[in-house]
Amino acid sequence: MSVETIIAKIEQNKEIYIEFFRTLIQCDSVNPPGNEKNVALVIEEFLKDVNIKTEIFPFGNNRANLIAFLNDNFEGKNLLYNGHMDVVPPGSETDWKYPPFSALVKRNKIIYGRGTSDMKSGLAAMAIALKVLKELKFDLLGNLILNAVADEETGGKFGTGWCVDNPLKAIKCDFAVIGESTGLSPLPKAILVGEKGHLIIKIKTYGISGHSSMPAMSKNAIYMMSEIIENLDKIDKYIPKSEPPIKLDKLKKLLAGAFPSEDIFNRILNEQPELESVLQSLVSYSKALTMIKGGIKENVIPDTCEAILDIRLLPGQQVKPIIEALKKLISDDVGYLVKEESINSSGKVFVEVEIMTASEGSYWEKWEESKELNDFYELVETIYEKKPLYFLLPASADAHYMRNNGYCPQTILFGPGKGRTAHAIDENIEILDFIKAIKVYAIFAYKFLSKK
Ligand SMILES: [Zn+2]
Repeated sequence: MSVETIIAKIEQNKEIYIEFFRTLIQCDSVNPPGNEKNVALVIEEFLKDVNIKTEIFPFGNNRANLIAFLNDNFEGKNLLYNGHMDVVPPGSETDWKYPPFSALVKRNKIIYGRGTSDMKSGLAAMAIALKVLKELKFDLLGNLILNAVADEETGGKFGTGWCVDNPLKAIKCDFAVIGESTGLSPLPKAILVGEKGHLIIKIKTYGISGHSSMPAMSKNAIYMMSEIIENLDKIDKYIPKSEPPIKLDKLKKLLAGAFPSEDIFNRILNEQPELESVLQSLVSYSKALTMIKGGIKENVIPDTCEAILDIRLLPGQQVKPIIEALKKLISDDVGYLVKEESINSSGKVFVEVEIMTASEGSYWEKWEESKELNDFYELVETIYEKKPLYFLLPASADAHYMRNNGYCPQTILFGPGKGRTAHAIDENIEILDFIKAIKVYAIFAYKFLSKK
């Protein structure tokens, strides 16, 4: 009857949990700069009254990571719940229907605010699950570890990356859940077993400045950049072929499972080009030029121009061959000298290629063989009263820190909220979704840690 006890406890304390979640939204942890310690202190306070051991690892200016444990013993099975505390900036606050940090509750149904979906709801639900298990004093064989991290929105190196290399290193992890919002509304909840990689490259052209009345005497860096951009698609011929982790046909099958029938799915797929482009993004790498900057004055030929190239990698696809391909394109197809490091020699014409950030994709190869994952799936189906679907994340999250270095390949993403409202104006979450996620996290941990 323990599952019923857990559900009853959550139902009974619902209002307290909603208030705790709202307090997290109201905490400033906009990244950059971060200030995640504000959130860590609220979580510590929330867990303290039931004697949950919490460790805060501060760094930088008011930033921190946090780890909390159900008990002191790490010898048995360990289940890790990871959630990031930082949020992206709200943009222009006047564009929001309600102030982004008010955590306003609408019709007792929806909470608005930055971080409601991405991902203070998932984080709060994980902390609550830990507290529920502690309060109910179950005799469990393993340990539940909550890892609240900083820095996810700016790459995760100082958050999950640091935690895996430091306090978590000695703890064997048997299964991990990252609580990012995986709602694909109107589709059912997704359980994500892979993510794409993310590579940001700065391309900088160096020409020769001069008076714009005599352009022939100079070398215009904006024109140089323009030549590179025009030829950019040729990069594909230099990039080694990468196989997607899940082929298009199978992805379609996984997705079709969320529809009443395959016919209905195919019809919707034909009607919604958006869905088709999501599928395409999961089976190929992509590139997009996202920023450009050049020129200092209207009558001066610019001697530098910068552009940012945003590349999304397939799981397994390496960064190095992409950089090599770009350099080859610039030197062989466009015909410019490529220098990697800034050389301070005026009068020379060249192009510089610099990696701004790089994180490779990740994928849990053996997800189909996992009994635990199947248990998780069935639990989500029961709580949400709808079959979830296994899928991949077209963007990138922190899972690569867990999967790629062998720390915990069996890492999934699952959480409350709607992926679509993440990072957007009027981000929001349904309260019911949040409560259901608490149930999933608490019951899964209970069942996982009850078994040998
Ligand atoms: Zn997130």
